[in-house]
Amino acid sequence: MSDRNYLAAYPLELQQQVQALLQDGRLAAHLERKYPERHAIQSDVALYEYVSGLKQRYLRNAPPLSKVQYDSKLRVVQHALGTHTHVSRVQGGKLKAKNEIRVATLFREAPAAFLRMIVVHELAHLKEKDHDRAFYQLCTHMEPGYHQLEFDLRAWLMVQDSLTAT
Ligand SMILES: [Zn+2]
Repeated sequence: MSDRNYLAAYPLELQQQVQALLQDGRLAAHLERKYPERHAIQSDVALYEYVSGLKQRYLRNAPPLSKVQYDSKLRVVQHALGTHTHVSRVQGGKLKAKNEIRVATLFREAPAAFLRMIVVHELAHLKEKDHDRAFYQLCTHMEPGYHQLEFDLRAWLMVQDSLTAT
């Protein structure tokens, strides 16, 4: 059983439903049926193109992306939802902001919908730093099914944890 509760922010009844499926060994199959589609975005170049495409479509006037990559050092435990870094550097007296998006390597093998949700989440951070109302509005603008996807992704992470637990 997973000791990390990725669903702590959700109603107890929902948590219990997911936990019951997990313990019965049915959660993985349930999610596979619901999200059968994989994606072909396997390299950092492909990931950069994918993220840039979404940014171009929905957030054209957000700050440019300096770097996008899969990161195998990202610990899912700490950064379940990827990480965006906002690095400020002084260059010739001017402060230049760099926007990097890193996605945990685990999402290379994830259902396509989950990669999309992660990328939407990280892109929204280009404009909104906090997880507030404006942030989630931006997320649902880019992906109308955002909230359900985040819930299901969190359940999927519990499955991944249970698979790697010894
Ligand atoms: Zn976030």
